[in-house]
Amino acid sequence: MDPHVPPVFCGLSTEGPCEPDALPRELDRFVSAGCTAAEISLQNGFTVCGGRVKAQEVEAIGRVLARFTLRYTMHGPLGLNLMDADHHDRHVAVARAFIEVTAALGAAVLIVHGGVWPKGLAAVEFERRRALEVEALQRLGDEAGRRGVTLALENLPPISSIPETHDAWGIAAQLERVAHPQVGATLDLGHAAMTARTRQQNLAASVRAMAPHVVHVHVQDQFGHPDGIRVPGHGEALAFGVADLHAPPGWGDVPLADLLALVPLREGSVLIYELAPKFFRFIPETVAALRELAHRVSGTLPVRVGSLS
Ligand SMILES: [Zn+2]
Repeated sequence: MDPHVPPVFCGLSTEGPCEPDALPRELDRFVSAGCTAAEISLQNGFTVCGGRVKAQEVEAIGRVLARFTLRYTMHGPLGLNLMDADHHDRHVAVARAFIEVTAALGAAVLIVHGGVWPKGLAAVEFERRRALEVEALQRLGDEAGRRGVTLALENLPPISSIPETHDAWGIAAQLERVAHPQVGATLDLGHAAMTARTRQQNLAASVRAMAPHVVHVHVQDQFGHPDGIRVPGHGEALAFGVADLHAPPGWGDVPLADLLALVPLREGSVLIYELAPKFFRFIPETVAALRELAHRVSGTLPVRVGSLS
């Protein structure tokens, strides 16, 4: 048993094509940097086609994943929106297919994006859409449970492509209504920081609101400023300290350690640092910092798991 392996798993999320040639190159880099986990960006691949599982592609990805000793989590499609009333059946079918893929690839957690809705929605219509998301998550939770998967509803950032979405209290309220053992929350610390700043909320209080539901964590650093300044291309957003940067730890001002300390991590929890691909040169220091964070926040856990199981 390696005493230096923390009782929670630490990893990065893949950012390149989720394809048999590209995927192992990324996973090799992750392992070399000391990752014990990886989040697979299924949205960058071909495992689901028209709402149906593409078995051949799943098998090809599965063969790649089997080559690495990593704990895997799976990210679902960015466009998934269980509050999209006009295309609700399609969203549910796609979510169902990704649950099947997650199980087939041997992962226990599927990250699902929280609902998005247009600005200015009438209260009655907003409540109808919230109920759609709740009912869908209950049914999908049953399906996930049958396959040994937990769904993790993620808090999204307030950026121009997302007109309205749940804040931390909104995610917590939805999950309280869902009340399903297979449905919890993904807490993205950077998104929480942006939302708190935009809505003038207390960031720590917002993290505490979500904490009882958290089954998965996305770590990233940034300045919490939405993309209000016109910056031509992504490169300049860093200079201005705006947008959902997904920058290396310590580059922004999100108090990662303080916030993580508010989240009750269980032994075997997975911390994923979502590093934007343009920062991949800084993978080694990012993973080292993540492991250090994991040690600090998991110090109270009774047993260290030394190897993957
Ligand atoms: Zn996400």
